[in-house]
Amino acid sequence: MVGAGFGGLCAIYRMRELGFSVRAIDRASDVGGTWFWNRYPGARCDTESIDYSFSFSEEVQQEWNWTERYAGQPEILRYLQFVADKFELRRHVQFNTVVDSIIFDDSSQLWRVSTQSGETIVSRYVIMASGVLSLPKKDAFPGLESFQGEVLHTSSWPAEGVDFSGKRVAVIGTGSTGVQSIPLIAKEAEQLLVFQRTANWSVPAGNRPLRPGEMDELRSTYPERREASRNALAGMPEQTSMGSALDHTDEDRRRFYEAAWADGGGPRFLRTFNDISRNPAANDTAVAFVSEKIALAVHDPAVAALLTPNDHPFGARRLCVDTDYFATYNRPNVRLINVREAPIQEFTPSGLRTADAEYEFDMVVLATGFDALTGPLLAPNIQGRHGQSLREKWAQGPVTFLGLMVHGFPNLFTVVGPGSPSALGNTVNSIEQHIGVIGTALEFARQKGTPVIEASAKAESEWTKRVAELAAPMLLSTTRSWYNGGNIDGKPNVVLLFTGGMGLYRTICNEEIAAGFPGFELSA
Ligand code: NAP
Repeated sequence: MVGAGFGGLCAIYRMRELGFSVRAIDRASDVGGTWFWNRYPGARCDTESIDYSFSFSEEVQQEWNWTERYAGQPEILRYLQFVADKFELRRHVQFNTVVDSIIFDDSSQLWRVSTQSGETIVSRYVIMASGVLSLPKKDAFPGLESFQGEVLHTSSWPAEGVDFSGKRVAVIGTGSTGVQSIPLIAKEAEQLLVFQRTANWSVPAGNRPLRPGEMDELRSTYPERREASRNALAGMPEQTSMGSALDHTDEDRRRFYEAAWADGGGPRFLRTFNDISRNPAANDTAVAFVSEKIALAVHDPAVAALLTPNDHPFGARRLCVDTDYFATYNRPNVRLINVREAPIQEFTPSGLRTADAEYEFDMVVLATGFDALTGPLLAPNIQGRHGQSLREKWAQGPVTFLGLMVHGFPNLFTVVGPGSPSALGNTVNSIEQHIGVIGTALEFARQKGTPVIEASAKAESEWTKRVAELAAPMLLSTTRSWYNGGNIDGKPNVVLLFTGGMGLYRTICNEEIAAGFPGFELSA
């Protein structure tokens, strides 16, 4: 398998349990995946710790103690190291190794996985647990190589940390990563310039340390929480929504929004009403409420206006979750620069030039995002039957069955890949569900004596159509973001996620299993 983050570790555990010999490959020097690389200041999960964790081991649930409502990167990395230690998972992982190509051999029906160091591993099954947001977007900023200061990418942050004190720092990017890191960099740096192209919606995280005894209380709720997560829209327990936003008086609606705002969390806010994500009029009520909050938080009305999104509906891009983001712009050492109006033209040795001004700084932090979902799967050269490459097959956008398999690529599974709910909700919940289905499929194939399993062309085409049809009425289809490839120039404009919710997706997978995998072809 490829990857030793949440997905890879879960897959190693499960496949080993099923009696397979297992080898995982990861480019990092240790386990952790996303949480190994993204060590930027403020890196924190937007899903509550108690839910963003494995449910497969009761022992882990009983032994591990979270310390905050939303765990920070160091704590999540420690958690994954704890799981790896406990089950001796590292002995199955080859670290510091990059997969170069994955080629199907038609005669032996085996995969040949080649690494950049020249090694070839032969394997019957390949599980791509290579991540959703793991391939950084490559930015072609002209002149970047001429910049004499330090260039930092949030997704490959130095493990020893970065000292911003006394430094003039620039941040490019105001998505979830920028929104998390900007308040902390601002506290340390002498001066912070934030280059914003698109303003993003953000709601307070409401993070806090867990109270003494709270972990024990939460622990006792694991059975109900896990069950609720499995059937919920976003893979985590959710507040009952108050129906349509349009069915309430202004006063009541405000009361519900205020409660969600005070409680904190993206899914909590988005689910206040059940039509925010699809009905423009309902969405406008959230736009009005949050715009008002931004105006209240930011002292300078011109800065507040610039921070208020005006080109996309609320939550149509991944909703950011923050701690003091908007108020950070009240600091005298922070300046917001609109690079939508005057785009970045080039870097210079001392900073960068936009269409209308020149800026000087000592360090630049690139928080410019990822080639999401398909990027990590297309980075290695994957070739299926008869030499067909996945890059060619997906040239117009990904086609999959259940986001799990691709026709023509037998015995190759994608974990939380395109066409599945993936990172639209709690990714750990999605990962466990996917690994569960893969394990059941492999057991089924083994019992039938048909070790080759492949999505049928018909099932793949019907699923791809269904994913597109479900996404069409969603407001997330109306704006450019990593949800639909819109953040990468030239990437096909296709909604990459199954938007029907985790509960429905799980039911569909369970029906497929109960019916004996009719969407898959099995052969000896
Ligand atoms: P992102 O949401 O794609 O944001 C990238 C930012 O960089 C955007 O503001 C984008 O502007 C800007 N940008 C990109 N290229 C640029 C250019 N050439 N010039 C100027 N600006 C440019 O990426 P992200 O913030 O890394 O977040 C990606 C996803 O990772 C999130 O949506 C979330 O799912 C996940 N994440 C999760 C957490 C968490 O759970 N706490 C934290 C961080 C990230 P435009 O919008 O104009 O393109």
